[in-house]
Amino acid sequence: MTHSETLFEEAQKYIPGGVNSPVRAFRGVGGTPVFFKHAEGAYLYDEDDRRYIDYIGSWGPMILGHSDPRIKHALHAQVDLGIGYGAPTSLETEMAKKVCELVPSIDLVRMVNSGTEATMSAVRLARGYTGRDKIVKFEGCYHGHVDSLLVKAGSGALTLGQPNSPGIPASLAELTLTLNFNDIDSVRETFAKMGDEIAAIIVEPVAGNMNCIPPVPGFLEGLREVCDEHGTVLIFDEVMTGFRVSLGGAQGLYGVTPDLTALGKVIGGGLPVGAFGGKREIMEHISPLGPVYQAGTLSGNPLAMCAGLTTLNAISEPGFHDRLTEKTVAVRDGIKAAADAAGIPLAVQSAGAMFGFFFTTEESVTRFDQVMACDVERFKKFFQGMLKEGVYLAPSAFEAGFTTAALSDADIEHTINAAHKVMATL
Ligand code: PMP
Repeated sequence: MTHSETLFEEAQKYIPGGVNSPVRAFRGVGGTPVFFKHAEGAYLYDEDDRRYIDYIGSWGPMILGHSDPRIKHALHAQVDLGIGYGAPTSLETEMAKKVCELVPSIDLVRMVNSGTEATMSAVRLARGYTGRDKIVKFEGCYHGHVDSLLVKAGSGALTLGQPNSPGIPASLAELTLTLNFNDIDSVRETFAKMGDEIAAIIVEPVAGNMNCIPPVPGFLEGLREVCDEHGTVLIFDEVMTGFRVSLGGAQGLYGVTPDLTALGKVIGGGLPVGAFGGKREIMEHISPLGPVYQAGTLSGNPLAMCAGLTTLNAISEPGFHDRLTEKTVAVRDGIKAAADAAGIPLAVQSAGAMFGFFFTTEESVTRFDQVMACDVERFKKFFQGMLKEGVYLAPSAFEAGFTTAALSDADIEHTINAAHKVMATL
């Protein structure tokens, strides 16, 4: 037995499924999840002393690579000063100022502890601000485990939403309309019927929880128009795309401005952080300025602010995202070339430092139903093959891949060589 196998058995005795977040259990790919004990730069090291090139980066935060010396230094210094005060610090203002500078649509920003808290609070704020209850989301987009957002479409776009999970009241799910991502016509039709009842549209501007699907031209622009026509709040969930697809996030890359933005992952540099922010007029409805309640014991924790701020400063260096995008394109195209050489149909897509590959005969994938039609069995074999070759990809056909600044040319070459080997066996 490997150490990971032994540790997984032990973990399952005390933790549901042996993991603290479901996708880590490898249910989507089979086999035993790998247990790690150390991470440095582009690499993860498991409990059996095997090294892996990491394309998950703790699910997004580690954009600089693991154990970045600047973050370690900042954290050590803060530990000496104090771990947390539950009271205002200058660090929080520095962080908020930086976020407002990098994301111009944000006038005011509130720190929270996870992406889930960020989207949950943004939706509550949009409802409190508009006095409306209904919200629109898109099938295949994930916004954290918020009750109102764990909802799938009924049989038609305009039927009532149904809970995705037991424990979510049907009466709450009914307020969530689930439409098709990248289909602006369905949005316009829905708004023509009930636009004035809809508090918010929430969208991942690049979908990253059904693999990686960039917006088709006109989709985000159309959402902006529809929201303007109906006084609806446009929320970009940039928990994944923020500071990753460009320094200014997806809104910087595509030039469409939301009213509110949810942030997470990179903003915490690996510590538990999220944030939501946006137009002053809307944000002023949050307590203590306004009546919409939102709070957090550990919100703005100084260690978390240190890790996050150090990350945001590091990625603000000129050319950072251009270099990262080049690496991403090299990985993406290398995997595609490997598939072509083996005669395996594959579509690849990316946005900034996010990429995806789909085992499909389609040239490109823009819709949820196309994602669902991909060959998941082939993905599983590819994933397991790459793992054996020391390449750690997301253990699900429905997750985007992430690159980090620590990835070297040699790492990329290793990845592509591994892809050639594994594709040839599929
Ligand atoms: N929104 C998006 C787009 C996400 O990808 C995620 C997490 N993967 C979340 C929200 C929830 O963030 P967290 O897991 O930090 O609660």
